[in-house]
Amino acid sequence: MTTTLITGGNKGLGFESARQLAALGHTVYLGARDESRGRTAADELGVRFVQLDVTDQASVDAAIETITTEAGVLDVLINNAGILGRRSTPAEVEASDLEHVYATNVFGVVRLTHAALPLLEKSGNPIIVNVSSGLGALAEAADPTSFAAQFPALTYGSSKSALLMITIQYARALPAMRINAIDPGYTATDFNGHEGTQTVEEGAEAIVTFATIDQSGPTGTFQNKDGIVAW
Ligand code: NAP
Repeated sequence: MTTTLITGGNKGLGFESARQLAALGHTVYLGARDESRGRTAADELGVRFVQLDVTDQASVDAAIETITTEAGVLDVLINNAGILGRRSTPAEVEASDLEHVYATNVFGVVRLTHAALPLLEKSGNPIIVNVSSGLGALAEAADPTSFAAQFPALTYGSSKSALLMITIQYARALPAMRINAIDPGYTATDFNGHEGTQTVEEGAEAIVTFATIDQSGPTGTFQNKDGIVAW
């Protein structure tokens, strides 16, 4: 039995990934910050609900306590919850914009990962999937002809760059775990007003792939559904 926790599971890529992983037989804990939306989503999928706001230490601690009591182990942690923040040009960005977005996309990932590590260490095949973005890739951003270069993304892009470095650092320090960052690709969800060009099924592909690798799989990599993404 594989026990999996996914953040931001009530909609979008998190919901679809939870659906696919449950279909593969995982015992899924669907984390959502809003109790009502989270329970409704979990009930629809027939998975477990856990209240989880990654910006709130008490919420994170309670969620991990619940999984500890009920399952005693965590095999897969999917850090999926993320926000875009205010749309603005780099010149308009204020420090408070970064504080707001980093609270979820960066500090939230570290808060939850730190709390979850003791439970992951009880697994025979511990896995962390960090949902980053092509907008976080420095190689893309530095190329003026790239898709990413069309989007001003000082706040969001830099938060996802930080997540890439966080992934490398955890992967190097924790070689018994498979820890990878993925780019789901531009996917139609509420996140982008459904302007994304992929379906959620396509967007969830890399999340599910890296949530289901075994110990022979890669760690410390950044990948999309087609393979390695340049940092
Ligand atoms: P979405 O539909 O907007 O879903 C985001 C999820 O994150 C929601 O469940 C949201 O909960 C949750 N969330 C936000 N803040 C949270 C917090 N503090 N604690 C816990 N949950 C929180 O977006 P999505 O497209 O599925 O995005 C999922 C991930 O993929 C994000 O990390 C995003 O950056 C990344 N991504 C998306 C795309 C894309 O094209 N869609 C591309 C690259 C990367 P509420 O419903 O309560 O707001």
